Amino acid sequence: MMRFDCHMHTPLCGHAMGTPMEFLRQAGRKKIKLLTFTCHIPLDHEDFGGPGIRMPERDFDCYLSWVDQAREMGQGLGIDVLCGIEAEVFPDRDIQNRIADFVARNNFDFVLGSLHHQLAAYRKHIQKTGRRTDRDIILGYFEELTEGARSGIFHSIAHPDVIRIYGTVKPFEPSEFEAPIREFLAACAEAGTCIEVNTSGLTKGIFKLHPDPLMLQWAHEAGVMLTMGSDAHRPQSVGQYFDQTIRLIEESGFRQMNYFLRGRRMAVPVSAMSPARQLACGI
Ligand SMILES: [Zn+2]
Ligand SMILES: [Zn+2]
Repeated sequence: MMRFDCHMHTPLCGHAMGTPMEFLRQAGRKKIKLLTFTCHIPLDHEDFGGPGIRMPERDFDCYLSWVDQAREMGQGLGIDVLCGIEAEVFPDRDIQNRIADFVARNNFDFVLGSLHHQLAAYRKHIQKTGRRTDRDIILGYFEELTEGARSGIFHSIAHPDVIRIYGTVKPFEPSEFEAPIREFLAACAEAGTCIEVNTSGLTKGIFKLHPDPLMLQWAHEAGVMLTMGSDAHRPQSVGQYFDQTIRLIEESGFRQMNYFLRGRRMAVPVSAMSPARQLACGI
């Protein structure tokens, strides 16, 4: 059995809580053998959020120490701990280059790419580009995410349909945006960029998985590879809704899941993550 959770935050970002040991204990309860911390990338820029949104650049060493501490504790518990980052996909060349440089300077195991439309910077971008209707905003979002998938900066695109919450647009049916979503997925498949199955979608907004199950089906048809994470901002959320989600992933036709170690993709059979297997092994 090889179950992993590759998206979680530390208190360094200012809106998460918990100690390394609390995260590890919850992982143990959920039969998770590998944790990748992926705090929000530090980016000192007023439109990308100050305290409470992401760690300031001067705290980055504290983040590395926090993860090191978790790694040491994990060794005694049989849980591997990896160091990742949740970086921003952003449609401004200077910002995107700054992020790419930061990622290149640090040897992360795993780099997520997220387009957070709730950030002031993105809201300003939406205004500047003259997108007024939900339709235009959603189309723009998937276009920009497609560029992110092609950029080569990110191993996996996090919560790829997060545009459906946070109030920028009303929730929407993916079937109404099938062409741009399929284009995004084709770009992921071509570039070898994974998408993330993010279970935090089940806890907020319209209480559905990210991505929507229909989008997951299209991802399978396109040959896109998956990573998986809880997006935990506190220890209790580690591995949240994993059993039902792994079942859905299997039903959607996927046979393989992926995590990243020192930037290299490691494939694991979905069956090795499934709740049925856990029962069979008696662990
Ligand atoms: Zn966060
Ligand atoms: Zn995010």
